[in-house]
Amino acid sequence: MLRPVLRGLLDLIAPARCPGCDVRRDWGQEGFCEACAPLLEALPSGPSLYGYGGPLAEAIRALKYARRLDYLPVLGALMCEGARRHAGKVDAVVPVPMHPRRLRRRGFNAAELLAEPLARALAVPLSPTHLVRLRDTAVQASLGEAEREANVRGAFEGRSVPARVLLVDDVRTTGATLRAATGALYRGGARQVRVLALAGVVDL
Ligand SMILES: [Zn+2]
Repeated sequence: MLRPVLRGLLDLIAPARCPGCDVRRDWGQEGFCEACAPLLEALPSGPSLYGYGGPLAEAIRALKYARRLDYLPVLGALMCEGARRHAGKVDAVVPVPMHPRRLRRRGFNAAELLAEPLARALAVPLSPTHLVRLRDTAVQASLGEAEREANVRGAFEGRSVPARVLLVDDVRTTGATLRAATGALYRGGARQVRVLALAGVVDL
């Protein structure tokens, strides 16, 4: 009798739902559901931890465009799991910044929210101030590859960057944004820049 009531109350506070399909998870369970979990495509190497598509793409879109911040713990845990290979090798975690105007409109930077638990797991500071977005670039998704490169050129500036940086983004498409940001970090003083994206478009 007590348990269903208690569970109902807890669900009110924090209903655990699958970030891929939004189905309610069973009591005590969290993360992607049994249907979605096998569809996550872990990438063994490269800058992206998972292929961008299926339930993970749904989760990231929901986080960014439907403000499903309740999906963050699950996505943040995926980030931390995949970041183990960078442990002890970085001095700071730097998220790819949004332009202030865009940030005001959305209210949060998904890359920064995902970089937060990562920095904690790696026991280094989260340092968003070391990389600044100078220009508000057009939405990359509508552009071809060459246009993407041109679009983000000169868009970033690194400032007093620590020696070893882990640059973090939520989605890597062609890599143009991450390449431009990496260049800015080196110009700003970095000696080694590592790159990590939660999801990457693999067949481009
Ligand atoms: Zn699901």
